[in-house]
Amino acid sequence: MRIAVINAGSSSLKFKLFDMQTKKVLQEELIEHIGEKGAKFSSHHDALESIDVDFSSIDAIGHRVVHGGEIFKESVIVDTEILSLIETLNPLAPLHNPANIEGIKVAQSKAPKIAQVAVFDTTFHATMPKEAYMYALPHELYEEHKIRRYGFHGTSHSYVSKEAAKELGQSIESTNLITLHLGNGASVCAIENGKSIDTSMGFTPLEGLVMGSRCGDIDPAIVLYMQREMGLSVAEVDKVLNKKSGLLGICGANDVRSVLKREDESADLAIKMLVRRVQKYIGAYMALLGRVDALVFTGGIGENSEYIREAVLQSPLFRDSKVLVIKTDEELEIAGECVRVLQSRKD
Ligand code: AMP
Repeated sequence: MRIAVINAGSSSLKFKLFDMQTKKVLQEELIEHIGEKGAKFSSHHDALESIDVDFSSIDAIGHRVVHGGEIFKESVIVDTEILSLIETLNPLAPLHNPANIEGIKVAQSKAPKIAQVAVFDTTFHATMPKEAYMYALPHELYEEHKIRRYGFHGTSHSYVSKEAAKELGQSIESTNLITLHLGNGASVCAIENGKSIDTSMGFTPLEGLVMGSRCGDIDPAIVLYMQREMGLSVAEVDKVLNKKSGLLGICGANDVRSVLKREDESADLAIKMLVRRVQKYIGAYMALLGRVDALVFTGGIGENSEYIREAVLQSPLFRDSKVLVIKTDEELEIAGECVRVLQSRKD
């Protein structure tokens, strides 16, 4: 079986073609700066058009879709009705979902006979119990506006948890893990018997850890203060929290590698804050899980930075924990989901 995976961002398009028998990547393309001034491609359509691939030899195209809301608890084959349902979720992920939808539409026009499968970042966390996903806010905010925790990076947490179970020689259904996806965006997941029971990202990917340029957990009253006392608009506050905070806000750089090379106080503080927040989440999830078979590091920082891993593991609470470092592969996970969805259609 040959599966193509498309990850369409606001100005980028990642394309990978897999042979699912061997799990080998047959073709890989990354097109960036789509639609930007002076760029080679003015639209996702032109970008995909430029990829030289024989769509007639492909069994399905998997699409990363960031937000599945409460509607999508599994990956789905996209038809007109599904596409309009995904569109209703745009307000929940205004930066990401419209780009993902654009990717689906372009692929549909290019390969109209091939199954398009939507794989959501949120579905892995659909198993969270209500006490994990509810905010302590007036209930109508959930009922009427679907304000709740969703969690993200689901394909990554799912992929590395299954790989971890294999390394441990256990079935995923009986494995408890804390998976740490530490990249520019970062999240932690508590996995009980193979299922997500809690995760650090929430209604949006802003909650949780200290990230490259996102603040993670803060007192929400700070948002009110910025608006009331500093006169910031909604868009300005959004920019502060998502684009100017995290490591960037603390020390002026968002790239862990470059922050680690520095010796000044603000760089030191940024790393200490990142590490401390990770430790707090691990501790909390250990309390929830009771038994943890392994802590699993992944993502650009988790996979590559021994310094950060060692710093996190300094906590005496984690001394006896088994630690695994597993390279994530979100595209392969999406391709695997396509195979599963196609096979369940046949059953
Ligand atoms: P990602 O978003 O998963 O691509 O991860 C990006 C982050 O990983 C950036 O902060 C990089 O600085 C960090 N990173 C990548 N390689 C290394 C490394 N060898 N040491 C420390 N951080 C790294």
